[in-house]
Amino acid sequence: MWAEYVDPGEPGAVKWWHMVREGDGNVAMCGKEMGDGVERRSDREWGNTAEPSCHTCGAMYLREVPYRAAA
Ligand SMILES: [Zn+2]
Repeated sequence: MWAEYVDPGEPGAVKWWHMVREGDGNVAMCGKEMGDGVERRSDREWGNTAEPSCHTCGAMYLREVPYRAAA
């Protein structure tokens, strides 16, 4: 998860969290080019942040990551 800031030039308030695949450089799954040096978090935190997550990245992510088996 990479942060998109409200003000791209200024790290601080996060506007959206995007998902970036390993090996995709700085391009998020939705196609957005992410800034250098932005805050990053584990994909495990997807949906558990105070700030919203990118809907397009979320849809792509759910298609690629298998569901955890229902217990
Ligand atoms: Zn995105």
